[in-house]
Formats: sequence, structure tokens, C-alpha cells
Amino acid sequence: MTDKSRKLKVAIVGGGLVGALTACYFAKRGHEVRVYEYRADIRVEDSRGQSIDLALSTRGREALREVGLEDLLVNRHGIPMRGRMIHERDGTLREIIYDSVKKNCIYSVSRKYLNEVLLNAAETYPGLELHFNEKLVDVDLDRGKMKLLNTRTKVTSNVEADLIVGADGAYSTVRKSMIKRPLFDFSQTYIEHGYIEIYIPPSRDNDFAMSDGNLHIWPRGEFMMIALPNEDRSFTGNLFAPFETLRALDTPENLLNFYEDQFPDVLPLIGREKLVKDFFSSEPKTLISIKCKPYHVGKTALIIGDAAHAMVPFYAQGMNAGFEDVIILDKLMELYDSDLSKVLPAFSETRCQNAHAICDLAMYNYVEMRDLVRKKSFILRKYFDTV
Ligand code: FAD
Repeated sequence: MTDKSRKLKVAIVGGGLVGALTACYFAKRGHEVRVYEYRADIRVEDSRGQSIDLALSTRGREALREVGLEDLLVNRHGIPMRGRMIHERDGTLREIIYDSVKKNCIYSVSRKYLNEVLLNAAETYPGLELHFNEKLVDVDLDRGKMKLLNTRTKVTSNVEADLIVGADGAYSTVRKSMIKRPLFDFSQTYIEHGYIEIYIPPSRDNDFAMSDGNLHIWPRGEFMMIALPNEDRSFTGNLFAPFETLRALDTPENLLNFYEDQFPDVLPLIGREKLVKDFFSSEPKTLISIKCKPYHVGKTALIIGDAAHAMVPFYAQGMNAGFEDVIILDKLMELYDSDLSKVLPAFSETRCQNAHAICDLAMYNYVEMRDLVRKKSFILRKYFDTV
């Protein structure tokens, strides 16, 4: 009898984008899947997390296709972005098409909607349970044992599984446990830039205030702003700048002067009052890049998505790379008849090096987007579907 005929108990820590998709893939194979998510169910309570929209590219689309979600998320709810639109300080616009030959584009998709769709899809599989408000507080990776704390009732429970998948994001508790083990390589880098989200509403006649077929970039050397279109015809922008620069914008007057000087074309689109309100309503968020190796422990534990390879967002591949992890893992499950003693090492072997390379590309694009883009760099754009 091969292991394939055996129903595995799979516990997934984290019901974010990658955790929910991983759950679908394991359940599709007939395994018994439990997802433990720290937050409340976002479909019921709106506990808004990070940035509102994400750029979905080929890697991510392929993973969604396998579970029948590509059409809904890409064709019906995704907004195609055919290229970058560069906004100069004097208001001049310059469009850089991603793929003028095959006309491939990337898609702007709402993070919350994507997560909701994935959770809904997960729930349709028999043998899959979603548990919310459950925080992993302790884990024995060799024995597949976890201790969870219900954040509402404060009751702790113990769970056992054949496989623990840590899809618990950049600050992963599962990875923290791996760090204590011998021969586990780990490095993390915070960049000196933070970001603040800026909302650009629809125009007065309820249309997009700028072209909706682009990812908009205002490159300014040491800092930059970007904006992606939303389905409701608004845009979500992010101002990325050194913390020192952000700290200096400490009064409405300083902020408005900064925008008038650096981003004069977008200021009327946002509105002065709205900009001040958005800017001062939250603290700048940090950006981290994480590399580690291996991604597994024996045949009982694995990390995936940001838990394994969080990256700075400038290559727009964090989620896409996490979705690609899921496809690769699924292919290995097929190849090795769900024999975890072979699947997990093979996953680390194939995935670590490539994920490290994507982290490096993301860091490179950090400079490219805010600076080189102004100097008409063609080095990487020719080869990759970068943002
Ligand atoms: P997360 O989305 O972080 O999900 C982890 C989940 O685990 C969370 O729900 C969390 O509550 C839960 N959790 C954490 N700890 C515990 C615990 N102890 N117990 C139980 N549950 C726990 N990527 C792209 O591909 N395209 C983009 O355009 C893009 N834009 C981005 C813009 C910004 C500003 C940022 C910051 C990131 C961007 N990314 C983008 C990256 C993308 O957001 C991440 O790669 C993606 O969210 C990773 O998904 P994940 O499921 O691995 O982790």
C-alpha cells in the first residue's frame, strides 16, 4: 500500500492567502485538513490588515486555475494592468508596457476579496475545517503537536497532525521554532523605508481619476508613490519613503507642501483634507525581507509563503511566489505518492534557492522602481514581469 491511499491529517497554521490556498490543494487530494487562523473570520468581521490590492501575475494565476478560481478572480474581478505609468514631477506621463509582444498583463485584485474567495472555496471541500481566533502558541515540530490559544475564550487546546504547515506569515511562529534547530539558516533585513497607504477616490463623475490599465508610479529617487486600481474605480496608493522623511512630515502643512512639491498632479485627485486624514490616521509600516533554509523538519513540518520567504513588495511577487510554493508542493505530493519523508526535503531542495533569488530581485527592484525607472533602465524589464 502506498502512502497515497492514506488520509493524512494536515494542520495549516494561518488562513491568509497562502494558507487558504494550501488548504484547498490538500483537501482536493482527499486529506483531512484543519486551518487555524489567529484573526477573526474576515468574511464576518472586517479586521483590515495590510495593503488593499495586490498585483497578481502568471505564477499566482496558475495556482488559482488548479482550484477553479482563475476565471472569478482574474477575468471577472481582476483589473488588467498592461504597464507602468510613470508620473514625472512636472505632470508628464510616460507609459512602459510590460509585454508589447504577447500582451500579457498583471492584474490588480483586492486582498480581502481574494482571501474571502479562497476561504469560501476551502469550505466547500469535505474534510476541511476552518478555525478562527486560534493562535498557535507552542509547537513540537518533530511530533506534529501544537498548542493553540483561543483569543476569544482564552481556552488552550492541543492538536496533533501528520503534517504541520506554517503559513503564518513573515513573523511565523512555526519558523521561530525551526530557528532553534541545528543547521537552520536564517537572515532578516528591514529596509530603512516604511510605507503609508493613500486612497485616491473616483472622479466626480464616478470614473477612474487616472488610467485604470496601469500601475502608476511616481519615482522620486529616495522615495516614491505607487497606485493600483480598485474595482470601485478608486485607487489605493502607497507612499514609500525613508522613516526619516516620513517623520519630517509631522504637520498637515509640511505634508501638503511635500505633496505640492513632489506629487502635484495627484494632490487634487486625492483631495487635501483626505490626504491629511489618511496620512495621520496610521503609523508608517515596516518592510522586511526574510531568507531561511531548509523549509522543512523531517516528515512532519513545513513552512510556506511569507513564513518561508517574506520579501519587500517592489517586485510584487510575495503572494505570487507563495502561490507557486503551493503548486510545487502539490506536484511533489503527486510525484512521491504523498510520502512526506520524500516530499518535504524535495520541497526545500527545489524551492529555497529560487525563493532566495526572488527575494533578491525584489530588493533590486526597490531601487529600480523609485530611481532607475527614471533613468530608463531596460536591464530587468526585458526579462521579467516586474512591476
Ligand atoms: P499572510 O498574508 O501574512 O498570512 C498569514 C496569516 O497567518 C495571517 O492571516 C495571520 O493572522 C496568521 N497567523 C500569524 N501568526 C499566527 C499564529 N501564531 N497562529 C495562527 N495564525 C497566525 N505580493 C504580491 O504577489 N503582489 C503584490 O502586489 C503585493 N503587494 C504588496 C504590498 C505591500 C505593501 C506588502 C506589505 C506586501 C505585498 N505583497 C504582494 C506580499 C503579500 O502581501 C504577501 O506575500 C502575502 O500576503 C503572503 O501571504 P501569506 O499567506 O504567506 O502570509
